[in-house]
Amino acid sequence: MNDMAYGALLPETPREFGFFVDGAWRAGHDWFTRTSPSHDIPVTRIARCTTDDLDAAVAAARRAFENRSWAGLPGAERAGILLRTAEGLRRRRDEIAYWEVLENGKPLTQARGEIDHCIACFEVAAGAARLMHGDSFNNLGDSLLGLTLREPIGVVGLITPWNFPFLILCERVPFILASGCTLVVKPAEVTSATTLILADILAEAGLPGGVYNVVTGAGRTIGQALADHPDVDMLSFTGSTAVGRSCVHASADSNLKKLGLELGGKNPIVVFADANLHDAADAVAFGIGFNTGQCCVSSSRLIVERSVAREFETILADKMAKIRVGDPFDPQTQIGAITTQAQNDTIMGYIAQGQKEGAKLLFGGRALDLGRGHFIQPTLFSDLTPSMAVGREEIFGPVLSSFHFDTTEQAIALANDTVYGLAASLWTRDIDRALTVTRRVRAGRFWVNTIMAGGPETPIGGFKQSGWGRESGLLGVEEYTQVKSVHIETGGRTHWIAS
Ligand code: NAD
Repeated sequence: MNDMAYGALLPETPREFGFFVDGAWRAGHDWFTRTSPSHDIPVTRIARCTTDDLDAAVAAARRAFENRSWAGLPGAERAGILLRTAEGLRRRRDEIAYWEVLENGKPLTQARGEIDHCIACFEVAAGAARLMHGDSFNNLGDSLLGLTLREPIGVVGLITPWNFPFLILCERVPFILASGCTLVVKPAEVTSATTLILADILAEAGLPGGVYNVVTGAGRTIGQALADHPDVDMLSFTGSTAVGRSCVHASADSNLKKLGLELGGKNPIVVFADANLHDAADAVAFGIGFNTGQCCVSSSRLIVERSVAREFETILADKMAKIRVGDPFDPQTQIGAITTQAQNDTIMGYIAQGQKEGAKLLFGGRALDLGRGHFIQPTLFSDLTPSMAVGREEIFGPVLSSFHFDTTEQAIALANDTVYGLAASLWTRDIDRALTVTRRVRAGRFWVNTIMAGGPETPIGGFKQSGWGRESGLLGVEEYTQVKSVHIETGGRTHWIAS
């Protein structure tokens, strides 16, 4: 398809969304317009909600929680609604992918794949809704039986980022719903459309009113007010470590709401000399290129054994040169646009700083002029010193820093030399080494001879400053429950007061 034909796929006028409270759409009082980062045209108009709107959403979620219309259902009925939602996502897959592309800039083929993953999230969570259970203590003596009950924690606030607007939403929402909680979601202001579309699909699937509410607007106002809200029992926040830290303060200063935090990363990918270097290089290119490196689990620090480092960097640079950057509607495109102008400037700033600090630029480093939108070449730096910002700080863009090591201990030390601990990848054919490094590197997700693999069955989350708690899988449901210990006496009471 030529450029003109891609133009035909663009909306003629921006699609306007209200916000969703208590099972009904409400019109905004004020709006902001989102521009496609790939095409520079307005694509959506999103309501700028007020704190009164937020209060109404929290009140609706509270009512829906307290009236037991959701928490009181058998797990099997909750599962039925989650499975019908999965069907709804299948039917509207192309529509969701389309708006995800327009607001985020990611390739359409990638967006469709992400929605398949989202469908799987709903299916896995449906199973979890039926299997969630507590425990029993049949060892307290003949007169006492102990039970632990898992109860939904209550009203959950959910704040999501712009890099995977729908995927991150769906790695949380079905698991929160499976637990019996109700929620108020605040998507990133630049990527709100698909979170709103999900409201429609959940309602069609039979979700009672008030269980899933969406308010839209800026993080500084509506996000902060949700984090501060005294009637929210738990906040699940996914985004930067800086805002995650402010959510901790907000919880401490309000009602000590429980927090789930999924924050930043500076994730290592360790390559030993015995690895299949072509497989590893392909994985490294994918690890930093996928979603333009705007990925919390992007492997942005290459840690490669010195004996093969130069050879490996050459293979890698060659692969990076073949990555197809372009219009996200082109089925050949592997990397789309940088999602916001601010993020584009941040990435270009880091590239300039890396060069200024003396890192060696082996590939890329340039913005690409495609006539519209903002695009950046995948970029590879080597010969860094440990203090250079480009190798230490989360850039959230397609910029990779290469470090060299001689021993396994050095590789482990380099991998752990970060305040973050979100994910790590390791490439070797030596099983002893693989197990040693896997057990010693502090990261919540670990991939051996693969990268970014896995589905909604396994939990996700970070060590160190990458976050608290886990999402997805059975743990991702339990995270939204609290445990009540129950003691039941059988037989007569041994009296305290003599009769
Ligand atoms: P961000 O922290 O700026 O924003 C994330 C969300 O928080 C948005 O919805 C935003 O509106 C809201 N927000 C902003 N200020 C707020 C405040 N004061 N109080 C409450 N909410 C507020 O992050 P971003 O730029 O959207 O996303 C990039 C960051 O997210 C990166 O650091 C990345 O690593 C991280 N991230 C982490 C994961 C993970 O699973 N660990 C996934 C994706 C992104």
